Amino acid sequence: MRTPLVAGNWKMNGSRAMAAGLMKDVHAGLSGISGVDVVICPPFVLVPQCFQAADGASIAVGGQNLDTHEPGAFTGEISAEILIDAGCEYVIVGHSERRALYGETDELIAHKTRVAFAKGLTPIICLGETLEEREAGATGEVVTRQLVAVLDEAGPEIFPQAIIAYEPVWAIGTGRTATDGQAQDVHALVREQLAVANSAGAQSTRILYGGSVKPENAAGLFSQPDIDGGLIGGASLKAEDFLGIIRAANS
Ligand code: PEP
Repeated sequence: MRTPLVAGNWKMNGSRAMAAGLMKDVHAGLSGISGVDVVICPPFVLVPQCFQAADGASIAVGGQNLDTHEPGAFTGEISAEILIDAGCEYVIVGHSERRALYGETDELIAHKTRVAFAKGLTPIICLGETLEEREAGATGEVVTRQLVAVLDEAGPEIFPQAIIAYEPVWAIGTGRTATDGQAQDVHALVREQLAVANSAGAQSTRILYGGSVKPENAAGLFSQPDIDGGLIGGASLKAEDFLGIIRAANS
């Protein structure tokens, strides 16, 4: 039995005022919902505020990225230690925006996963193919390559604690969602690949779907047997939408 998890990725959005309002509304909206783990990943500077607003309740906080070095002279970077000190339990690694815009390779993402896990953070590891890769029939090959890089570097034993997010790049922020069946097919493949390395862990590992999830399409996606919740971008910036998605995961 896998407890569904819904994580909000605010990306480079938000303000102290927005965080105060959204955390208050999400906090209030969660009363009566007990079967879903909820994580908020705000920009770094809003992490302490969100952590305080969560007030030990059922909302955990995560970073959107981390640097792998030991603390020291790395201007502009954030270590696992700083994230943990600020209240983070989770960290997103390998988001497609980091891969495409900041040149993060499979190897670097695998390294970030290893360091995050070793320092005590739960990594949310993003995998996903571009539109060109999907149209070329390479989806399975791409997500397997991305997953194997993580397994080789961080070890299969990080699962089931570590979390995977399948996010087709063509569905992120585009309004275009994978169909329930398209998403389920890739999730099943990821679980199958994971089972090759860690058969017991694979069954308990949470595999989230991400890519234009909204309250209207969440229930269909989350009803698929291998979809265990979502990584939510745009819809996590509005409390009512985010809560609608959480409710869909709870049902
Ligand atoms: C994301 O950023 O991880 C994401 C899935 O974004 P959106 O929900 O806006 O497509």
